[in-house]
Amino acid sequence: MDVMISSVSAPPQKSLIVSLHDAHPGSHAQIAEQIDFLAKYGVTCSSILVVPEFHHQGSLLQDKGFCDAVSGWQAQGHEIVLHGYFHDRQESPPEKLSTVFWTRFYTNREAEFLDLPRETARLRLERGRTLFESLGWRSRGFVAPAWLMAEGLTNLLAEMGFAYTTRVSEIIPLLPGLNRPKRSQSLCYSTRAGWRRFASGVWNKHLYGYLRDTDLIRLSLHPRDLEFPLMRRQIDQILRASFKRGFQPSTYGDYVAR
Ligand SMILES: [Zn+2]
Repeated sequence: MDVMISSVSAPPQKSLIVSLHDAHPGSHAQIAEQIDFLAKYGVTCSSILVVPEFHHQGSLLQDKGFCDAVSGWQAQGHEIVLHGYFHDRQESPPEKLSTVFWTRFYTNREAEFLDLPRETARLRLERGRTLFESLGWRSRGFVAPAWLMAEGLTNLLAEMGFAYTTRVSEIIPLLPGLNRPKRSQSLCYSTRAGWRRFASGVWNKHLYGYLRDTDLIRLSLHPRDLEFPLMRRQIDQILRASFKRGFQPSTYGDYVAR
């Protein structure tokens, strides 16, 4: 297990990072509900993953109510993170046998950054960052849809000054002087079908049993997760148990900078 803290006097802090994926005007109500839900447990900061033009349905700028809500969440202590640009594959390279598992089965054609040419990726990242800056959102990190990234994307992100990215299994700091990559599997649910929900419940129970004895728990929520009683119950149990064990809420940005 990597040790992230260099000071010998400070006790190792146990961090709980909750990330809220796929925030966009269409998921506004669900993200707002998740933020209220989390606050009841004392999770007052999370990393909110915002998509600039979700599924090519137009820019989030068209919804002032959503933009104001995101600014409000940032003011409350939540972190705003760039999460892809379109979050779909409408303008992506044609699928190959080697990518079809990731594009069709693992995701529902959402792996936008899985195989984007470098220059296209750069343009989308710049566009997203400029949009966020115009709204006063301090986005330090980038998380690719479904955590799927083309080879070389982490180098591009580092060149462009992003502070970190994440995969489902690790947090990757990108700026010089920051900590080494931190291996830690994220708890994450799949809601697309009943068997996927059941399987992810079993898997997350097993995974939590391991994570609770480490110094980092990552919980990734998607907009529909709280709609399913089985998952809502398990998320409730995970949050209660984590606080009892001394985990403290954090954001990815604060985690990599500490
Ligand atoms: Zn996503």
